[in-house]
Parts: sequence; C-alpha cells; structure tokens
Amino acid sequence: MSRNPPHTLSRRGFFASTGATALTLASAPVAASVAAGSASDFQYEVQRTVDQWLTQLGEQSYAIMREGLTEAPKSSPLWDETKPGSYHCKGCDLYNYDARLKVVLEKGWVFFEHSQPDSVLTAIDGPVPEYGAMSEDAALTEVHCRRCGSHLGHLLIVAGGMKHCINGASLDFKPAEA
Ligand SMILES: [Zn+2]
Repeated sequence: MSRNPPHTLSRRGFFASTGATALTLASAPVAASVAAGSASDFQYEVQRTVDQWLTQLGEQSYAIMREGLTEAPKSSPLWDETKPGSYHCKGCDLYNYDARLKVVLEKGWVFFEHSQPDSVLTAIDGPVPEYGAMSEDAALTEVHCRRCGSHLGHLLIVAGGMKHCINGASLDFKPAEA
C-alpha cells in the first residue's frame, strides 16, 4: 500500500529533519514491521479489522499508527503542549505517557523521557542486523502500544539522551482536572 497523506512524511524526510545523522535509512518501505500481525505473531489484547481501525482513527492516524508513517514536525498541536495531564493511545485509550515526563524540543514531535509502566513495547524497524553486528544501516527502535500494537513512534538519542519520539496523531491528551 502506498498511502501518503499530506501531513505525513516518509522515513527519509523524517530523518533528514531529526538531525539523527548517525542513522542511515534503509530503502525498504515502512510499516512491514510495525502494527499487529508482524513476524512474531504476537497477539495484542485489542484486535480490530482494518475497517474498524479506519473508523476509529481516521485516515491520518491510521497511516501513522497502523502503517508506520511519521507525521510532519509540528503538525500536531501536542508537540509544544505543556499542561499537566495524561497521554493515551488513540487506538485503545491505554495511558502511555504522562505530561510530567514530556519534553518540548524544537524538532517538533512529542517527546517523553519515559513511558508509563507496562504501556509500550518495542520492535526493530528496519533490517535486523546479525547478532553483535555494527552497521551503518542501523535499524530504529520502534515504539508501539502494549495493548493494541499501534505504532506510536521511535526511541531516539536526541538532546543528550534517549527519548520517546512520538507522533502526536497517535495520542489523545487528557488535561489533568483543575
Ligand atoms: Zn493502544
């Protein structure tokens, strides 16, 4: 499939703009390794049909969460949101991230220092290297929801540490009660 909604970027565009120059992109198309139904046959707790996902998420979030695309920087208003509150998976409402661990970075995605306990899982996004191999075609560490398997973003070394670099279109923000 070749969805490419106007507000999403290819992985190549994503990397060009993250400044993560130590990582070189593989030319393989995205998404084969994300979302439910990947090679591991892991059964996520929440399962939906394609039609159900499209209805729930809408076209743009579907392309990101179920096909692994990345939104354009600053396309989500959540990138510089600073209010206290919780960030939930748009696919299943699991509490994935908390505003207390959010960091606003000019790169324009939604960054967190850590996820909530038992809320996300990781996978290799890209060609899987041999054990112990060092490669310039380093794969990315992809982050997805523990409960529904939807793609959220990646773990990246940015601003001096490891951050969860998350698409705002994958999250619902719930401001804390005043
Ligand atoms: Zn989820």
